[in-house]
Amino acid sequence: MILLMSSLKSAARQPALFENVPTPDSPVGGDRTDASSETVLETISPSRAGDFKQCPLLFRFRAIDRLPEPVTPPQARGTTAHLALERLFDLAAAERTPERLFDLFREEWTALRATPEYSGLFEDLDTERKWGIDSLRVVANYTRLEDPTSVAPVERELMLAEDLGEIVVRGILDRMDERPDGKLVIIDYKTGAAPPERFALPAFFALKIYALLVQRQTGRTPAELRLMYLGNSTVYSIEIDRNTLDGIERQLLALSTTIRAAIERDNFPPKPSALCRWCSFQDLCPEGQAYAKPEPNLPLD
Ligand code: SF4
Repeated sequence: MILLMSSLKSAARQPALFENVPTPDSPVGGDRTDASSETVLETISPSRAGDFKQCPLLFRFRAIDRLPEPVTPPQARGTTAHLALERLFDLAAAERTPERLFDLFREEWTALRATPEYSGLFEDLDTERKWGIDSLRVVANYTRLEDPTSVAPVERELMLAEDLGEIVVRGILDRMDERPDGKLVIIDYKTGAAPPERFALPAFFALKIYALLVQRQTGRTPAELRLMYLGNSTVYSIEIDRNTLDGIERQLLALSTTIRAAIERDNFPPKPSALCRWCSFQDLCPEGQAYAKPEPNLPLD
């Protein structure tokens, strides 16, 4: 059962205007890196494993062909917000105010927009400023979901890697806390809006993998997975146990077998769904044409 917790705190005050940042000076773009299919399964991230479950052709485009995906404004919001939230917990508890969080967001965006990947993302400064104001509203929602002065993360941006025998899984989890009862909680921030509850369960797939990696590396079984959707101030949470993680390990090993077979046969069929709307490869996909691209600023990370 998924527990839904929404708008846990009173509304944070409205963010200040998005303040001045330097002018973009180079185009958006990404490097293409060729990879042979033999190396694809040397390591796999929870996100790529989720891609294969969502759509084998999407997995092929990302993990094998490694086609470039230009950064979108919602992705830029997600990256910037994650960096700001990580730094928030470098501060003493009393300093973790909404204003400091906004400052951190501005600082991180100022640094990101100077990089080739992010510069030129917006066609003009007004569009960028509107994105910035919208982003600060999203970031403000974080402080409606929990009081950062009362949070003491055990880990942040923790790199995990584990050899499961058939497959090596590697990824970075956003945050891990310890509840008052001493149990571990894996937390993931989403800057988009939460899906309806009946569609939320697949979103926990990656977190279950992180929980498995934590269990194997520390010997402690996390008790809870928590998804914090800042876009509409919603938290979904599930309880897990050792049986859950035994099941996810079996799923992962079965998935690695399926992916190996797909690579050997070069068989990556498209699997269209509502998520095609956010796929970067609609133009290359025989099924993707049926789905309209989302509005540029629709919040989804
Ligand atoms: S558009 Fe849909 S079916 Fe096609 S590759 Fe993307 S996710 Fe898969």
